[in-house]
Amino acid sequence: MARNEGNRIVPTSLFECLTWKQAVRVACQCGHFNHFDPAGLWWHFHRKGWSDEFRDAREHFYCRPCRIAGGVLVRPVSIEPCIHWPIVTLPVPGEREWKRAIARMRG
Ligand SMILES: [Zn+2]
Repeated sequence: MARNEGNRIVPTSLFECLTWKQAVRVACQCGHFNHFDPAGLWWHFHRKGWSDEFRDAREHFYCRPCRIAGGVLVRPVSIEPCIHWPIVTLPVPGEREWKRAIARMRG
């Protein structure tokens, strides 16, 4: 559930980032990071049946520079909302399917 910090809503899941129109910042201990568009990222998780809570999403990311340098999968140290423009955008479905998925999430 989104946290309330003062008068600011802080999303704690991909869907909440989508709802509150914030990008998703995924950062590695090495300093590498990416900003994801929440729409395509949430859709990707939704299709896979993965939990989109930040605390659960960690296991589905790894750092590419660390993988190339060391050959190991290094999980991110943080996944959090951010106000920066997304660097990475993933595909979303057609409008009808998209609206159905969103409506299901909102209940
Ligand atoms: Zn790294």
